[in-house]
Amino acid sequence: MNYNIAVIKGDGIGPEIVDQALKVLGAVGGVYGHSFKYEEVLAGGAAIDAVGKALPAHTLDVCKASDAVLLGAVGGWKWDDLPGGERPETALLGLRRELGLFANIRPAMLFEELAGACPLRPELTAGGIDLVVVRELTGGIYFGERGVKQTEDMGEAAYDMEMYSEGEVRRIGVVAFDMARKRSKRLTSVDKANVLESSRLWRRVMTELAGDYPDVELSHLYVDNTAMQLIKNPRQFDVIVTSNMFGDILSDEASMITGSLGMLPSASLAASGVGMYEPSHGSAPKMTGLDTANPMATVLSAAMMLRYSAGLADEADAVENAIKAVLAEGYRTPDLFTEGKTKIGTSEAGDLIAARVKKTART
Ligand code: NAD
Repeated sequence: MNYNIAVIKGDGIGPEIVDQALKVLGAVGGVYGHSFKYEEVLAGGAAIDAVGKALPAHTLDVCKASDAVLLGAVGGWKWDDLPGGERPETALLGLRRELGLFANIRPAMLFEELAGACPLRPELTAGGIDLVVVRELTGGIYFGERGVKQTEDMGEAAYDMEMYSEGEVRRIGVVAFDMARKRSKRLTSVDKANVLESSRLWRRVMTELAGDYPDVELSHLYVDNTAMQLIKNPRQFDVIVTSNMFGDILSDEASMITGSLGMLPSASLAASGVGMYEPSHGSAPKMTGLDTANPMATVLSAAMMLRYSAGLADEADAVENAIKAVLAEGYRTPDLFTEGKTKIGTSEAGDLIAARVKKTART
């Protein structure tokens, strides 16, 4: 299989963590006979320095013409004084908009080997946690009409409008149902239908869609209850689908269960099948060039790329299993290090994961 990947290494630790993901993809390609073709393009601070714009037109063209985009992280102190509209992070919003990335997928996985990093009591997480939040990314209150107006007797007022169309709900629903079908066939749709009209429409469309997925068990939960249940009993969840704002909040809450930012991948998908894959963390400027960053979130993002954009589920499993093997053997980057474990750097982590991918394939 030939596969074209636009690579944006970005700023701070971005280049060093992306290099590890490329190392691992190289091992996957070698073992399974795929040819991954990379085109490296600039975005964020590196692009501002090189051509004066966070998202150059050439970068966008290459990303649009690729099967997937693999991104490290953008931003850093060097560009902090630029006006809001010119900062490195504007590249991310531009990419989301221009590529039509309406579905944000954030798995929250607690590997059994890292149970100690989880803030919840051990009996709540025994056996590990593996859930996915599917968040609608281009609609709802973050993109709705907003404004400020003067009231007669209560001073200034501000408003932001939450609006969802049936089409918007249906297309994120399809992503979530398809994902649930490939996993444990359980889907929780989260809304606030007891109060919000937009949530009632959300719930109706999700319920209609369930008719097309008789093998998937759909349940509905209010967002306030979901926030509570994620802490009380996170293992009850498999796939959660929700609106832009609820997903923003719940995916951060879910991610904390895993204990380390360095372990969290993410994917943003478009209707065309193009996806952008990146770790959930930022560019960690203080760690730049020190060989201390954990590359696993980026490697797991590459695994998501194999699974969701390339349809290579076995290869994605191989990468995830390689990470589990490296952790089970006691290797830890500094963010995860505890007494009795073997401390490794960014590059060694990449080497070890790539080696385990090759070994898994041989056994
Ligand atoms: P950050 O995620 O970069 O760092 C937060 C904390 O997590 C830091 O203590 C850092 O040392 C640690 N950390 C992050 N990634 C790690 C890794 N792979 N291994 C080990 N430890 C890790 O967030 P921040 O400090 O708020 O932001 C730094 C810059 O990144 C800012 O310019 C911000 O705008 C940008 N940012 C970019 C993205 C993105 O590109 N998607 C996302 C968030 C923040």
